[in-house]
Amino acid sequence: MKKLKPKEIEDIRRAAELLFLSKNAIVLSGAGISTESGIPDFRGDSGIWEKYKPEIYGNIQSFLTDPSKFWKMAEDIAPTLFSAEPNPGHYAIADLEKMNIVKAVITQNIDQLHQKAGSIIVYEVHGNINRFTCLGCRASYNKEQILRKLKKEKKQVPGCNYCGAPLKPSVVLFGENLPNFEKYMSIDLAKKSDLMLIAGSSLEVAPICDLPLYTLSEGGKLIIVNDEPTGLDKRAEIVLNNKTGTILPLIVEQIKKMIVEDELKN
Ligand code: NAD
Repeated sequence: MKKLKPKEIEDIRRAAELLFLSKNAIVLSGAGISTESGIPDFRGDSGIWEKYKPEIYGNIQSFLTDPSKFWKMAEDIAPTLFSAEPNPGHYAIADLEKMNIVKAVITQNIDQLHQKAGSIIVYEVHGNINRFTCLGCRASYNKEQILRKLKKEKKQVPGCNYCGAPLKPSVVLFGENLPNFEKYMSIDLAKKSDLMLIAGSSLEVAPICDLPLYTLSEGGKLIIVNDEPTGLDKRAEIVLNNKTGTILPLIVEQIKKMIVEDELKN
């Protein structure tokens, strides 16, 4: 771990204090929180996304025209997604929920690592990799059924048992709308939140990049933990340009000390 600068140590303490004093803190996470679990994000120079441009391979129009392209990418990426384990950043967020500080996690990630780490109130605004839907008759399949099907049928694109139409994972592709419940819930949570902790997101993917603006417009504050600058840094109370797996556990450690000090005072 790189030695922290004095300013970072002070910012970690201030972030902990803001969270400790908050009434309705929420987390907005992005692909960056999962890179330390071995899942590449879209922005870094990972070979996967160089080989399969997400905007092309993960686009609903190209899926409808030729689903085999998407399924070829999935074959390459799925083993990493399915075998990934949470890292200290995910566990720190789950700890914040257990301490009743974080009231909900809104995640753009499809990897389910927040839930694996123990977070319970998680809104997956871009869906997840555990369900698959038939584009013809809307029949629904789970991950295990699809893996068995792929192994048995040896087809590049798994088809529906009932109508034969191609199956699509329940992840939101470029050009698709967000699931309604998660969309309206996350807007409502962002508006009501007095503090949004943003972890590992470039804040460039619409419409989720607008959620922090709802928090700001209602008088809430932002803490951004991201290893590179984002477009909202100027409007954030605290910005920590470092790894989420390093910073978030340190914030939790500080809050635990504050809780003990508070108990001793009362
Ligand atoms: P993004 O790829 O646009 O941005 C990730 C940000 O995290 C970047 O700014 C990067 O510099 C930063 N980052 C990378 N590793 C970090 C670390 N260890 N600590 C702190 N910061 C780190 O991600 P996004 O904003 O979530 O938007 C991209 C889209 O990609 C989302 O829609 C998401 O659904 C999808 N996606 C998801 C996964 C996943 O489920 N794990 C992986 C790749 C892409």
